[in-house]
Amino acid sequence: MGFDYDLFVIGAGSGGVRAARMASTYGAKVAIAEEYRYGGTCVIRGCVPKKLLVYAARFQGSFEDAAGFGWSLDEPSFDWASLIAAKDKEIDRLSQIYVKLLDQSGVTSFDDRAEIVGPHEIKLVNENRSISAERILVAVGGTPFKPDVPGKDLGITSNEAFHLTDLPNAITVIGGGYIAVEFASIFNGLGAKTTLAYRGPKVLRGFDVDIRDGLTKALIDRGIDVRLGVSPQKIEKKGDDLTLHFDDGAQLQTDQVMFATGRVPKTDGLGLDNAGVKVGSKGQIEVDGFSQSSVPSIYGVGDVTDRVNLTPVAIREGAAFAQTVYNDQPTNVDHELIPTAVFSEPEIGTIGLTQEEALSAHGEIDVYKSEFNPMKNTISGRVEKTIMKVLVAAKTDRVVGVHILGPDAAEIVQALGIAIKMGATKADFDATMALHPSAGEELVTMKDKVTVGG
Ligand code: NDP
Repeated sequence: MGFDYDLFVIGAGSGGVRAARMASTYGAKVAIAEEYRYGGTCVIRGCVPKKLLVYAARFQGSFEDAAGFGWSLDEPSFDWASLIAAKDKEIDRLSQIYVKLLDQSGVTSFDDRAEIVGPHEIKLVNENRSISAERILVAVGGTPFKPDVPGKDLGITSNEAFHLTDLPNAITVIGGGYIAVEFASIFNGLGAKTTLAYRGPKVLRGFDVDIRDGLTKALIDRGIDVRLGVSPQKIEKKGDDLTLHFDDGAQLQTDQVMFATGRVPKTDGLGLDNAGVKVGSKGQIEVDGFSQSSVPSIYGVGDVTDRVNLTPVAIREGAAFAQTVYNDQPTNVDHELIPTAVFSEPEIGTIGLTQEEALSAHGEIDVYKSEFNPMKNTISGRVEKTIMKVLVAAKTDRVVGVHILGPDAAEIVQALGIAIKMGATKADFDATMALHPSAGEELVTMKDKVTVGG
């Protein structure tokens, strides 16, 4: 039976574009549809613009630290509009690169919303026409979720945060996950009076407990009003001011409320039910190790499958799909030991198990922990401890988790990730010469341990 295309990809984000380009390179006839902008969440309104705002926000700390090193600066001033314009220019450039790469790979692009009509049929919504394909790859990603509180429409999400016309004087960020702590740090660094309101007892549930405690303290010390154990009950607007009511009875006047309360797969109205694709409770496409859904001709990669919602993972899943289906090389994505970072201020880099997880997985573990004032702080006068933790399975000496809070944590953990993935032991760490003076040298000079469990 003849199809219009061998492969039709819905969504031109990190995973979809990688899969489309590789499949085309392997000889498949490929089309891709994108309803918004090429590049997807990461490039357009996620990791990339976020990191640019993080860089901007960190200047504040650098200005403060500079005095200790002999610099005197006039009162620095900041212009939000200039930052957003520069960020938008860079994002446009990157989005165009995605368009060009698809074109150069021979992929046909449709600037349109695509919905699934059946196992081999897609409808382009604006063009109002059907297209057939032997296989469909769904790579539509996720979208921010707002809890159902009265007045929630008065609040923004990370989508809108990138396009505010002005920097708010005061902003309240709801949530305690990646996006919440990153944006609270950004707004605080840029000079907004920032509140972080989280329903749990410590931010960043799922991260190592010492890192969670350390970050909470650092956020408070840097001037963020951190409120724990509270949930929003309603938002009201009077004039230009918003009033946020919490479930403990407290009220807060603020200019903006930003919900960073998680993301959900963007499968609403996508037509997955038309083809009988099985989805989970959050609307995620359920897939096997080769990203194949319950309908053999339909696959899913990236956040829409809600496995590990990170860009490099989506890219690997897209590549593995193309290898498996179009290059006769069945490839399973390994979701173990993924290094990850949180670009809060200070930042976090982590790989492997938390102390709690390591204990339950290995019974007995050696915990090496170091808390120190980074060298730069000695002269700058800043008091903010770097925390480093190395968790070792006592029986095998294998390093099963590394957690860092402090400057350059992301860079350190990315490089360290290679050793951990290769199965490095504590003895391997000890045999590695220190690079002095650096923060990372702490990892290979740790001697004091506490043995837990067993
Ligand atoms: P997370 O799942 O990390 O955090 C969501 C937060 O919202 C949690 O603190 C959660 O609380 C809270 N929350 C959820 N529902 C409610 C509710 N009804 N009322 C109040 N609070 C609520 O999601 P994010 O949106 O921060 O990030 C989404 C994903 O994007 C991440 O999981 C990550 O994979 C990815 N990401 C990665 C980044 C990176 O690598 N640097 C940066 C940004 C995002 P609780 O903990 O109690 O459930």
